[in-house]
Parts: sequence; C-alpha cells; structure tokens
Amino acid sequence: MTVRRGRNRDRTAAGRSDRPVAPSSRRGLRPATIVVHGGDRPDYNAGAVVPPVYFTSTYRYPRRYSELVGRSKAYLYSREENPTREGPEQLLAELEHAERARLFSSGMGAISAVALSLVEPGDEVVALEDLYGGTLELLRSYLAPRGVGLRWIGPDELAEPDRAFAGRSARLLWLESPTNPTLRVIDLRRWSRAAHAVGALVVVDNTFATPLNQRPLELGADLVVHSGTKYLAGHSDLLCGAVAGPTRLLDRIDPHFTLGAPLDPMSAFLLHRSLKTLALRMARHNENARTVAGWLREQPAVARVFYPGWTEPGDEPLAARQMSGRSGMVSFSLRGGRDAVRRFLKRLELFQVASSLGGVESLVSVPAETSHRRLSREELLRRGIDDGFVRLSVGIEDPADLLDDLSNAIRAAR
Ligand SMILES: *Cc1c(COP(=O)(O)O)cnc(C)c1O
Repeated sequence: MTVRRGRNRDRTAAGRSDRPVAPSSRRGLRPATIVVHGGDRPDYNAGAVVPPVYFTSTYRYPRRYSELVGRSKAYLYSREENPTREGPEQLLAELEHAERARLFSSGMGAISAVALSLVEPGDEVVALEDLYGGTLELLRSYLAPRGVGLRWIGPDELAEPDRAFAGRSARLLWLESPTNPTLRVIDLRRWSRAAHAVGALVVVDNTFATPLNQRPLELGADLVVHSGTKYLAGHSDLLCGAVAGPTRLLDRIDPHFTLGAPLDPMSAFLLHRSLKTLALRMARHNENARTVAGWLREQPAVARVFYPGWTEPGDEPLAARQMSGRSGMVSFSLRGGRDAVRRFLKRLELFQVASSLGGVESLVSVPAETSHRRLSREELLRRGIDDGFVRLSVGIEDPADLLDDLSNAIRAAR
C-alpha cells in the first residue's frame, strides 16, 4: 500500500477532483437541493462520491509543516472535531439559514449545552410551559437549584408576548412551535421582538417543524435547537441533537464539548445519509398528516382534532405565515375516554404504540400517560388533553392504508 504524504498528496487530489464550491457561493440553492449536496466534502484520496467515515478518536500530530498543509485543518481529538460530523453540520446550517451548526449526541445534549453555556446564576429564563419534558426537567432540576429564575408562559398567555416581559429583563426566551402535544403555533416573530426589547436571546426548538417547514432564524430567533433523533434522522434508529445560529453565539456554546456530548462518527454518517431524503420525507409527512387530520375531523367518534393551524381559532393565519408545510404530527380526542383509547390502541396494526416521532413509520402515543404524566388533571384539561387524547406521528406509508388502520381501530373503540 502506498501512502502519500504532505504536499504531494494534496496536489494529486486537487488534480483528480474539483475543489468543493465554498458554501458562501452556494447561497440561494433551494432546500431540496441543499439536502442532497449540503456539506459535500471532496475525498482527496479516492474521489469517492460518499466520503469515508472517520472512525478515529485521535489524529497524528503533523511532523512537518508540509504535512499539516496537506490537511484541510489541524484535527487533534475527536471529541472536539471529526470530519464526518462537519458535513451534516454544514448541511444543517445551510438549511436553517444559519452561519453555523453543531451536532450533539442527543437533542438533550444540544439543549443542555445551550442552557449551561448561556445562562448564569441570577439570570432569568422565560419559557413555554409546554416545552419538551426533558427541557422542562433541565430548567427545573438543574438550572433553578443553581440560582436561575424561571418564568413560565402558560397556554392561555401565548398571544401576549409583551405582557410576559413587561419591563423585566431576561437572559433567554425558550420556545417550541408547534407545541407538543396540542400543536399550537407560537408567533415566533412577535415573541422574538418582545424578548429582544428586554435584551433576551431567543432559542427555538424546531424539532417538530424541521427547517423544511419553518426557519426560526428568519423570523427573529437567535438560536435553533433540534432533536435530530426525530425528523432529521427520520428512521428511529439513532440519537442526535443540533444547534444552529450565528458563529458569535455558536462559539460560546460548549466549544470544546466539555460537557461531553459530541455526535459520534457513525451517527453523523447515518444522519448525513438520512438528510438527503429530508425534503422527500417531509413532503410526504406533511401530506399524510394533512390527510389524516382532515379525515379525523369528519369522524363522529372524534371530539376534537389538534393540528398546526387548527387547534385554536386564530392559529391558522399564523401557521400560514410562519410555516410552509405543517409537518407530520396530529393529535385528537376520542369520544369514550380512557376505555375507548385502550380499545383503539389494541386494534391498531400499522401505527405502533411508542413515544418519539418523526420516523418513516407511523407511531401513536398517549401523552397523559407518557410525556405529560407529571401534569395534574387540571393542567392537562387546561390544554385540551382529556381522557380520550391521542397523539399520532404520521409516517410516510400509503395514506389509504393509514386511514384503513385508523378507521378499523376507531370502529373497535366504540
Ligand atoms: C425528543 C425531543 C427532544 C429531546 O431530544 P433527544 O434526542 O431525545 O435527546 C427535545 N425537544 C423536542 C421537541 C423533542 O421532541
């Protein structure tokens, strides 16, 4: 085996394959193209269309300057940097219209890195009461005991951003839209403006919408976080998290992965592979969920349908302004309460009972028994989560088969 080193290797490679187009010159590409080509890296060794995966924990120190210039940069240790992570990071940054993105080993890895890096004792964090359970727990169990003040925005206060701040300063505003599991749409532009007026940074968890349907940075947010475990990876087979935003902020968010949660090379490779079909998948998720939501609205056994834009009067114009597609989540309330839900779940064949969401396969869950089990009955009812409440993550199967499955199960629930 011949091993080429230093300048020689570089020249050979440059002669064989074209240098990649710098990301800045590719602005203006559309999302369906970005997902296929974003983060393309040249393989100087073999010209492989799909670059090799760097399964390495460490890198050889360059012995000579010439050896270093043959590399695209000086990699030292994989917790801090790994080339396989950089491709999907660049792709995601392009999709979110961010300067930079960084990938973490889970959504919570990314979320805790943001919170712990940007918030100090004595700061106030303003957050939606309807945040993802893990984020709530991070704020309540880790930040609050360390002297961080928390102020909650209840489901009835979503239309009053100015009142939530009312002259009081805050360090961070933490939002999610659409919300889980009632799929309310939050006015990201208005909330961002109100937060900025008191000097707060705005973080939006864009997991449910994905950048194909909603780009919070364009609506005024400062940072976007993701559980890439869901739609971005899309196949329910890996854990991953992401943060996207301006370099000046990204540089402050656990820059050396001291909290220990970088995305590993295998998951980074799988994520990059999955992102190539994100536009196709989201188009189908959007379409299937709309079909399912519309069908559910016609069913006499269904008391209420929760869907981005439909949950409350007044949500629709906001959803139309802020989102392109409405993503693949639909919740509904089945008449007949807990017993009906039990019969419904038992009869389903395609929809699998499981938490999580965003995979190609359809899933169903009962939030009152899983993600929202810590809420009191009163808190649940205030959100519209009654005993018949069920949440669907609508997959990319043939919609006719999904409707057949739901129809059979609803009949069995009566
Ligand atoms: C799942 C989820 C998270 C947490 O992500 P993990 O990858 O499970 O750590 C955060 N926010 C939202 C909205 C989620 O759905």
